[in-house]
Amino acid sequence: MLDRKELKEMAELDGKGFFVSLYLNVDPLFNRGGDYIVHLKNMLKNTSDNLDREIYKKVKDSMSRIENYVLTSKRLFKKGLAVIAGEDNSFWKVYHLNVPVKNELIVDKFPYTKPLMDLLDNYQRYCVLIVGKDSARIFVVHLGEIVEYGEVYTEGVPGKHKKGGWFALSQNHYERHIDYHVGLHLRDVVDKLGSFISGEYIGRLIIGGSQESIAMVKDMLPKELLNKVIGTVKIEMFAKPDEVLSKVEPVVREFERKKEEKDIQSLIEMALKGGPAVIGLDDVLKALQDRRVMKLIVSKDFENGGYHCKGCGFLTTQKIDDCPYCKGKIEFVEHIVGIAGKKAIEQGALVEVLSEPSEELKRYGSIGAFLRY
Ligand SMILES: [Zn+2]
Repeated sequence: MLDRKELKEMAELDGKGFFVSLYLNVDPLFNRGGDYIVHLKNMLKNTSDNLDREIYKKVKDSMSRIENYVLTSKRLFKKGLAVIAGEDNSFWKVYHLNVPVKNELIVDKFPYTKPLMDLLDNYQRYCVLIVGKDSARIFVVHLGEIVEYGEVYTEGVPGKHKKGGWFALSQNHYERHIDYHVGLHLRDVVDKLGSFISGEYIGRLIIGGSQESIAMVKDMLPKELLNKVIGTVKIEMFAKPDEVLSKVEPVVREFERKKEEKDIQSLIEMALKGGPAVIGLDDVLKALQDRRVMKLIVSKDFENGGYHCKGCGFLTTQKIDDCPYCKGKIEFVEHIVGIAGKKAIEQGALVEVLSEPSEELKRYGSIGAFLRY
């Protein structure tokens, strides 16, 4: 999974030969005819035509390897694809992303990771802590995937005994003894969790475990970590990552749904006040033509027919004969919203497709955008 540590390691490859970095929008919503292959071929051709011959020789094999990979790996694709390849096969890294990315092919003396960095900044990551009396596990959930990052195991925490006594200790003494060790363990967990979360700049935390251990660890969390907790789930200490993901997904979904609601609210309020935001397809298309869109928000399943200029990419819902911008030829398209989304991504804007259709946004045309100015 994509994380800051990995990006940092890639940044350290700076100067170690040439790298080819490919970003490809493979989102089926924006590639109804599978046209990402056309985009890829165009980018490869442009790059090989314009690249210094000496450099081209060095990265030629990496470029073919990338092309081959894209042509044969369709079944693995999600919405975005990133491939970074070093010269002479010295480095190879692939990311299948749950969000579409802007099409780019960059050859340089370093891996081009800015779009990946932006994904970490723009899409919430969730840390999941599963805690027990002598061990703990840390996971990260990002864009629908889960990865386990580490384990904290504290030795010397005595296990529960069937009978009250532990050696010759009285029940009370025994409990205190456990509490002391459990306390040490939890302090250790909280420390490690804190440094992990701050090192990775993770904004949200979900705590899992038994009711008892959740309560104990929550008691020990410093305020800045406690503020990040968005929910707790009852979960087994040894659950598999997939099980952990399915347990925390409802918490994540609910959190994101509330966030979407807030986004829609402020979008509508801002647009009604005069901006910088617009609502409704026509105004969104106009803003795209002016390259002012910062974040496009579109209701799930919203589509519309419209007109598309083959010359400059102008989009409109109005029936016109020639393009007002370039006099180019206009064609009718069935999926103008899909094309608009792709155009927004190409302009470096964020695109948020709502997880469920919004009645609120529907009243204003099911689409809107926050603008750059
Ligand atoms: Zn045009």
